[in-house]
Amino acid sequence: MNQTLTTHNLGFPRIGADRELKKALEAYWRGDITQAQLEQTGRKLRQTHWQWQADAGLSLIPTGDFAWYDQVLTLSATLGNIPLRHRSLSHHKGTADHGHSHQESGCCNHTGTEVSEFASEPCQDIDLDTLFRVARGRAPSGQATTASDMTKWFDTNYHYLVPEFHAGQQFQLSWTQIIDDTREAIALGYKAKPVILGPLSYLWLGREKHSGFDRLDLLDSLIPAYQQLLTALADTGATWVQIDEPILVLDLPGPWQRAFEEAYNRLQQRQLNILLATYFGALGDNLTTAINLPVAGLHIDAVRAPEQLLPVIDRLPAHKILSVGVVDGRNIWRNDLAKSLSLLKPAQERLGQRLWIAPSCSLLHSPVNLERETQLPADLKSWLAFARQKLDEVAVLETLLSRPFDSIAQQALAHSNAIAECRAQSPKTHNPEVRARLNAITEALWNRQSPFAQRIAKQQALLQLPLFPTTTIGSFPQTDDIRKTRSEFKQGQINSAEYENRIRQEIADCIAKQEAIGLDVLVHGEAERNDMVEYFGEQLDGYTFTQHGWVQSYGSRCVKPPIIYGDVARPAPITLSWARYAQSLSNKPVKGMLTGPITMLFWSFVRDDQPRSTTALQIALALRDEVVDLEAAGIQVIQIDEPAIREGLPLRDKDRRAYLDWAVKAFRITASGVQDETQIHTHMCYSEFNDIIQAIAALDADVITIETSRSDGELLQAFEQFNYPNDIGPGVYDIHSPNVPDVNSMVQLIKRAARQLPTERLWVNPDCGLKTRRWPETEAALVNMVKAARELREEFVREQERDRVIAAN
Ligand code: GLN
Ligand code: ZN
Repeated sequence: MNQTLTTHNLGFPRIGADRELKKALEAYWRGDITQAQLEQTGRKLRQTHWQWQADAGLSLIPTGDFAWYDQVLTLSATLGNIPLRHRSLSHHKGTADHGHSHQESGCCNHTGTEVSEFASEPCQDIDLDTLFRVARGRAPSGQATTASDMTKWFDTNYHYLVPEFHAGQQFQLSWTQIIDDTREAIALGYKAKPVILGPLSYLWLGREKHSGFDRLDLLDSLIPAYQQLLTALADTGATWVQIDEPILVLDLPGPWQRAFEEAYNRLQQRQLNILLATYFGALGDNLTTAINLPVAGLHIDAVRAPEQLLPVIDRLPAHKILSVGVVDGRNIWRNDLAKSLSLLKPAQERLGQRLWIAPSCSLLHSPVNLERETQLPADLKSWLAFARQKLDEVAVLETLLSRPFDSIAQQALAHSNAIAECRAQSPKTHNPEVRARLNAITEALWNRQSPFAQRIAKQQALLQLPLFPTTTIGSFPQTDDIRKTRSEFKQGQINSAEYENRIRQEIADCIAKQEAIGLDVLVHGEAERNDMVEYFGEQLDGYTFTQHGWVQSYGSRCVKPPIIYGDVARPAPITLSWARYAQSLSNKPVKGMLTGPITMLFWSFVRDDQPRSTTALQIALALRDEVVDLEAAGIQVIQIDEPAIREGLPLRDKDRRAYLDWAVKAFRITASGVQDETQIHTHMCYSEFNDIIQAIAALDADVITIETSRSDGELLQAFEQFNYPNDIGPGVYDIHSPNVPDVNSMVQLIKRAARQLPTERLWVNPDCGLKTRRWPETEAALVNMVKAARELREEFVREQERDRVIAAN
């Protein structure tokens, strides 16, 4: 008889099965509930989640994984790392660049003197509103100011608040939420294991706010604050603490890798066992570092990197436990128990009770409860597991290892085998036509007929666009009327004829407004789309949707990603009739508007029974048919949005080439079914292009529109230095703000671009879609944008004229 093994969880979704936290947060921010009411909701959620985990039978339950906005922000507060501008009034020393505070606070006795934005002392005066000021720039109390930056958590769609660092900064235990939560759980009788982000990952994920120092140098002053925290956690009675160091799966510079040893030597705590957690990939060249740290245990991700299990066991010191993450925390598929057992059994043989079982990473990235889904087909539903179901999977795997003859566990195993078999054999997952088409892909499919120079000449002959053509990115304001129309149709309150009429009216209004503004290439406005992925997913085979499958994206924001479960095919045209109608209303070209294959892939839960590249190519083939249909219907310009290309970039350098190869191929297959005369646009909106500029160029879109306005044109540098060969539309104004941009700022931005890039390659457009804006500011902004383009045209035509005269003489 084997002895029982330890099971645990790395973190539970905090948002609530009904998004209770989202609702409470937003109500609090609106002023509808008090802070005490908000806190009450948080307490209830924590207790519910602990209870669920205890019910599942886990040996250790995470605490400190609850966050009011973001767990990295919670840690910043814990360490006293709150930017000066977000501290409460009594500590507010004034900020040089936030004019707002000068007018509203009485503390401006520093007029005319340069006031440092940095304080080296830790912030001692933190409450919930402090956190919200960091996260959102405002809170029910305190002054409005600039929020801290937010960025993606590794390769997930979760966003964390980027810690701000400056030279000489001190840290100190300043906010006790993690400790309080742990006490709360222990008092209720739960076996709590507090979870914190480790010091090196914390520093790595932050940014220096000024030059002249290296944030790694802060480690020395950071460690004492961590020591304080660990001591306080030990005092709660917890015996284990989970310290996450996910950067151990990244390519780390030598000094970072070497810093681990001393840091963890200093963190040793007699009363606390440290479980060092890594996830999202393999330890790779950080294996030796991770294995040898003076901690009691190591957690590894055996879903993303099952191949590292045996090498890790081979090197693991005999006193350490190994937590093996076998249940996928990043996806929604039911665990194939037999497959997991085949990994775990050899590990158990080697490690005995030193083997722990867990999900691969925090369940933050999973929806909460599959039982809530009542509309999924039964077979499909049986293939899935959300956070609560994943806890049961961890528990049953433990039973299968420690009591192999337990009849309930055996039943679960048999059931799991049957489901795996059903899924593998299901005609829903296999469409022979799609498979045949995929096998028949040849190079011809991913090449346009002619190179860009020839294409653009033919396109220009057809489209006759002026220099600096103006266009928008696709969506126009999503008014209450539009939302109402869509929701009434969805709920069956209006029939499809009525729906069609109303959307057509929206399209007609949108076209008329663009004509009046004087834009050159129009769009239909995307009134029919709730979401750029969901809209297409709903009309493709192989996609399904949940009712409650929400996952936190940031703060109170959640997304409900579609699920790709089968071969993707397009049973009928998707956008064709709207596009055709829109084009019928104008003599100017109206762009057809599609979401690209990579974005369709990354903003969904993707099937795990075939490589992602295969799924991407299937989507590409389906969208290719849409592109060809649009062309046949007389659409001369087609935009394929790919805002997600960069976020798919693998965490490790060595894997990037292969990813970019298939991503580029998928885009090109989507785009290449058309004649030279048809102009293909793409759009991307994020801030780092330098590392993928070659791949962006390899997409070979005729025109790319990008976000540049927020970085003061800095972003354009990548395109300028690279000599980007095709047409490019640097976003000339920021659509994230309701401010109306002035003409001159837009002229200057384009002029700057024109110093490096040929004028005839430049377009003029906003930096993203306009759906979150309202009409008044949108019209005003676009009127100015068109003015800017006209000014540029006049000036450049004059210049050309002058050059011609000079050349002639
Ligand atoms: N065409 C989309 C829109 O305008 C693009 C959105 C995006 O870039 N995320 O809304
Ligand atoms: Zn965009």
